[in-house]
Amino acid sequence: MLNDVERILFHEQTILSRLDELAREITEAYRGKELTVVAVLNGSLIFAADLLRRIQLPLKLDCLSVASYHGGTESSGVVTFKQLNTPDVDGRHVLVIDDILDSGRTLHAVCQRLRKEARPASVRVCVLLRKRIARAEELEADFVGFDIGNEFVIGYGLDYQEHYRNLPFVGVLKHEVFAGSLASAGEGQ
Ligand code: 5GP
Ligand code: MG
Repeated sequence: MLNDVERILFHEQTILSRLDELAREITEAYRGKELTVVAVLNGSLIFAADLLRRIQLPLKLDCLSVASYHGGTESSGVVTFKQLNTPDVDGRHVLVIDDILDSGRTLHAVCQRLRKEARPASVRVCVLLRKRIARAEELEADFVGFDIGNEFVIGYGLDYQEHYRNLPFVGVLKHEVFAGSLASAGEGQ
């Protein structure tokens, strides 16, 4: 697994220190409010688990499974919800957590669905990583761990064809790893 990593962008300790700060920001922003976290699976699983334990507020947790990557490292542009039910967020302040903001399509679709199917008091977005690229959908993240360039990253929850999620750091995948396998279908968030 380690042999497939071109270089490490953020070590585990760097990530966890940043999460301390991010959790403090979120704790301040939602003090006295009814917070519901909606974690977008599978990519945000590890990020959300580490972040939530640092937020010093009572909160509810819901999860949504979404897929927008269908093979390779390019977004297909199609966002598919894997479950029919939308979390009940009526009247709640919602914080949507995802691993990475890339084209913005996934988070745009998630926020739109939450607003359409319920009446949340507010919807904000928190991502571990934000790519410095032009978005296909207009979507701003309210809380961001790190800004990165336009590279395909893996680890700390992020996958390539469902692999590498359990790497403790965020790194760049070697080009040769996906160069030969773009034809094989995969899917993952
Ligand atoms: P968007 O809809 O913003 O284009 O993409 C969001 C989803 O695509 C993320 O939740 C993530 O699952 C996947 N994604 C986008 N960029 C990357 C990346 O660099 N690495 C990995 N592993 N997944 C990515
Ligand atoms: Mg994801």
